[in-house]
Amino acid sequence: MIPVQQIPGIIHRRVGDIVVTAVSDGYLDGSLDVLRDIDAAEAADLVRAAFRPIPRRTSVNCFLVRTADRTVLIDTGCGTAMQPTSGRLFANLDAAGVPLASVDTILLTHMHGDHSNGLTDADGQALFPNATVAMHAAEWAYWKDRANLAEVERSGRGVPYFDMAQRQMAPYLDRLELFESGEITPGIAAVPLPGHTPGHTGYRIASGADSLLIWGDIAHVPEVQIPRPEITVIYDVDPTQAEASRRRILAEVAASGELVAGMHLHFPGYAHVTRAGEKFGLVPEPWRQEM
Ligand SMILES: [Zn+2]
Repeated sequence: MIPVQQIPGIIHRRVGDIVVTAVSDGYLDGSLDVLRDIDAAEAADLVRAAFRPIPRRTSVNCFLVRTADRTVLIDTGCGTAMQPTSGRLFANLDAAGVPLASVDTILLTHMHGDHSNGLTDADGQALFPNATVAMHAAEWAYWKDRANLAEVERSGRGVPYFDMAQRQMAPYLDRLELFESGEITPGIAAVPLPGHTPGHTGYRIASGADSLLIWGDIAHVPEVQIPRPEITVIYDVDPTQAEASRRRILAEVAASGELVAGMHLHFPGYAHVTRAGEKFGLVPEPWRQEM
């Protein structure tokens, strides 16, 4: 029989005693106009040279992290609010045999719709009945304060994010945890990477000699921003700081050889970073039978 539908988008990756599962939320198609400081034709050449669809297909990945005693979901995808090709987190968690009620902690890399819309359903009801939601203190401080909206309105970008963020967090306010950096729970540590948003945070999963850095939105269009880390996106709240965080973490993982994963690296998003002078590259990690 000829299949008519793709198999579920879930890939396990063991990190020491911890199992990380890349869970696809699908993808978002859009234009390359989201990139700043590069001409659209040049950006298209880079994407085309990498055999990626034109104009832009952006994977949206979430990561489930299961430690000895915790079930942690990092980001919740687009929910029902974005494109029909997204919001697949729930079907994929189901296929992985993970009930939403079993998730005890949600860690957000930041509060943009493609990361936090999945916290609630279309009516604003919480989808994760037993989860606390944790994020960097600077992240919630930014999105809860509509005074920051004035600045965003001047730039003409990202206005709906304030409404989304407040609506998504409303049913979780009595189970919200804010942090600055360091260990969240044994085996998971927060790595602040500010700039894309004020509290944008990566998470380092470590067990024994193994580690994995889930770096959130360090790259939105990897074919462009890995070789050219100076290229920012229109959604960066502070583009200068976003560029600095990207350069710093790329240099760090290229030197250490640490495995990374990204919310917008092509699914499943596990990769190593190479460096030749000031130019970085991305080498996707192959699927492994042994996880
Ligand atoms: Zn994003």
